[in-house]
Amino acid sequence: MALSHSLGFPRIGRDRELKKALEAHWRGELDKAGLRAVGRELRAAHWQLQKDAGLELLPVGDFAWYDQVLSHSLMFGAIPERFRPADDQPNLDTLFAMARGAGSGCCGGGHAQELTKWFDTNYHYLVPEFTVDQRFQLSWEQLFEEVEQAHALGHRVKPVLIGPLTYLWLGKVKGAGAEGFDKLELLERLLPVYGEILGRLAALGVEWVQIDEPILGLDLPQDWKNAFERGYHLLQHAPLKKLVACYFSGLEDNLGLAVGLPVDGLHVDLVRAPEQYPIVLDRLPTYKVLSLGVVNGRNIWRCDLDQALEVLRHAHERLGERLWVAPSCSLLHSPVDLAREDQLDAELKGWLAFAVQKCAEVAVLARALDDPEAAPVQAALAASRAVRASRAASPRIHNPAVQARLEAITAADSQRQSPFAERIERQRARLQLPAWPTTTIGSFPQTAAIRLARQAFRQGKLSQAEYTEAMHSEIRHAVQVQENLGLDVLVHGEAERNDMVEYFAEQLDGYAFTRFGWVQSYGSRCVKPALIVGDLSRPRAMTVEWIRYAQGLTGKVMKGMLTGPVTMLMWSFPREDISREVQARQLALAIRDEVQDLEAAGIRIVQIDEAAFREGLPLRKAQWQGYLDWATEAFRLCASGVRDETQIHTHMCYSEFNDVIESIAAMDADVITIETSRSDMELLEAFETFDYPSEIGPGVYDIHSPRVPDTGEMVRLLRKAARRIPAGRLWVNPDCGLKTRAWAETEAALVNMVAAARQLRGELA
Ligand code: GLN
Ligand code: ZN
Repeated sequence: MALSHSLGFPRIGRDRELKKALEAHWRGELDKAGLRAVGRELRAAHWQLQKDAGLELLPVGDFAWYDQVLSHSLMFGAIPERFRPADDQPNLDTLFAMARGAGSGCCGGGHAQELTKWFDTNYHYLVPEFTVDQRFQLSWEQLFEEVEQAHALGHRVKPVLIGPLTYLWLGKVKGAGAEGFDKLELLERLLPVYGEILGRLAALGVEWVQIDEPILGLDLPQDWKNAFERGYHLLQHAPLKKLVACYFSGLEDNLGLAVGLPVDGLHVDLVRAPEQYPIVLDRLPTYKVLSLGVVNGRNIWRCDLDQALEVLRHAHERLGERLWVAPSCSLLHSPVDLAREDQLDAELKGWLAFAVQKCAEVAVLARALDDPEAAPVQAALAASRAVRASRAASPRIHNPAVQARLEAITAADSQRQSPFAERIERQRARLQLPAWPTTTIGSFPQTAAIRLARQAFRQGKLSQAEYTEAMHSEIRHAVQVQENLGLDVLVHGEAERNDMVEYFAEQLDGYAFTRFGWVQSYGSRCVKPALIVGDLSRPRAMTVEWIRYAQGLTGKVMKGMLTGPVTMLMWSFPREDISREVQARQLALAIRDEVQDLEAAGIRIVQIDEAAFREGLPLRKAQWQGYLDWATEAFRLCASGVRDETQIHTHMCYSEFNDVIESIAAMDADVITIETSRSDMELLEAFETFDYPSEIGPGVYDIHSPRVPDTGEMVRLLRKAARRIPAGRLWVNPDCGLKTRAWAETEAALVNMVAAARQLRGELA
């Protein structure tokens, strides 16, 4: 009998109950007991859902009040000094202070721990903070309490831990002596706590524990590989069985290491890296369990059961009971329950599977191995085949016009008419901008009034004409403010946009939307990505009327504002039947039409945001160039259909560019605006060794904070930038869009920003 299990279930709840409870607690409307009760109910409900779906071994430890990495930091007593409670007993207040920061009143006060992306997902974890003299000690009972809760409910469970090497890898050493300190030195100090945890779990009657080591899918330095052997050797004698799990990427050069670890089982991700299957199987020691992740934990499509079964049957013949069946990774990254979607049409709904449905897929696959003739197995296989057939023929997916257009793309389509040096002269002559031109990144404050107007329009309470007028009035306000401030290149303010991806997705053919397809992003924050269902195309212009209206209000240059193909793709659930590259190209063609329509409407600058360009980088360096090539190509395809004198801007809101700077240059945008203020222009170090050819707007103030920087500070940053980039190529702008800010602080900051540009112009003259 092949065992079916899951690596983790979404914690947020099918109606985002955890989000609501957390936010009520933070507002002071729900006490700790109430919050704990919500957690207990959610865990009980989620175990039951998984069990009802047919899974045999259920995860514990996948629940977290904010983030599972943070729970581990508490468990290990890795609590930065500034949060350490007086009695040394961390509690929920400590946890939330570490996650969200704390005023001086609580927990010693202090800024929150850093938040960053969990591998290549859109989930964000709290970066563990260590000191050089870090000590670890078991300080948090949550995992044991949850195991007891599950046992009391009669469940057979498998606690999930982040492995010691992955945990250390994710952390950062701070404070005195941090520079030059190798955090691997902390391993010996950390392992005894793992030993203690494993002992406690064994004493609770736990048979199997899952130890997640996703860094086995990364390019690891040799000393980290060695540390794996050392570390797991030390944990070898813990009195329970260990399943080491790797996901999001293939084991590749770490394969020998992974299969050889002195543990009892290995989980691999066959969705991301199917090619590793035969080698893993060959090299797996005969005493070990192999868990095959065949159901995609990161997307919303139903699994092709026949295809999965092909591999599973083969493995089952070889491994028998040593074969386990699982989703590729934790289901944290997929929405909770498709059954909740009451407004999706039957055809589309039939193609989808959320976490609950994925558990059922895993269970039926395991059952199919032992009992292929069972009626539920036959029914599931028939349904899966029907889906495949309906998708193969559906006009909703296959659009011959889009495919023909893709076929007809030539190299010239991703090539501007002239090289940058010639274009920029024409653009300068046409735009007549001063030195140190000032602009903003696109959005202005999304006030309550704006959101209410959008909502009322959606609900039919506002007519089209009333809604248009409400938005026009916002645009008039934004233009007026910008003219008063004396900005050089204006924007319309994006009042009509709920979200920079969804706004465009809603206007493209080929996209679909769910009502409840929420996925946790961090803490109580969830996102609901749009679904790329079929070939993508743009039936009509998407932004032209708004931008034309805005341009009509001013003699200054109005910048058109679009989201780029790579970002559209990264922040959607993609198709699996065609490559990401092809989807990016379809998006590029749709956006290209919009760029050209804006040009035809007299718009002289078009900005194409690529906020997600860098996060698309694969986990393995060897795959970087392949990605960068098609991502760059997609951007060029969407941006190159215009005349030389039309200026193309792009925007990226992060600052780690050093390793991709050549691809950024290859995008061939005329101007790029980037985030740099928080890193004090450090980003520009990349420009020291690489001669970036085009114009750059390094952000001069941080829009994430309400703080209003003064003029001197911005002048200092710009001078610093001018040491690396010729002043004639610099623009002056904030780090990112201003939609999360209020008008008062926005205007105050922009007054100072314009003054900074003027001061520098004066010096130049
Ligand atoms: N134009 C967008 C805005 O200003 C860009 C947002 C982003 O880069 N995340 O809001
Ligand atoms: Zn940005």
